[in-house]
Amino acid sequence: MIGNRGENTRPEVALRSELHRRGLRFRLGHRIGEGRSAPRPDVVFAAERIAVFLDGCYWHGCPEHGTRPRTNTSYWDAKIAANKARDARHNATLEIGGWQVLRVWEHDDPRAAAARIEDAVRARRLQL
Ligand SMILES: [Zn+2]
Repeated sequence: MIGNRGENTRPEVALRSELHRRGLRFRLGHRIGEGRSAPRPDVVFAAERIAVFLDGCYWHGCPEHGTRPRTNTSYWDAKIAANKARDARHNATLEIGGWQVLRVWEHDDPRAAAARIEDAVRARRLQL
């Protein structure tokens, strides 16, 4: 499950290796802005100002895999709702700051996700 920063989960490793394979250079877990609540995207293209989040299906409430434990349902629902609210807040903060935000689901095909990210990075480079 994605959610613990600093761990190399399988989807993270797969996405990163696809990005590397495409010759893209990026930073990992780079906090943008000040303070503990500032967004920290999983992958950052600083020059192009593109922030990529790899969202775990469970913690971020994926519509396809949003299964809940049978016990403590309200607790988990509240937690996931809070995560989604934070995601929306981070998107807004970054976009106001001129960043383009890309969100990849844990269940997304890493090659397709990397292709989408590469397209965005190349498009931004043309605008620089
Ligand atoms: Zn999912």
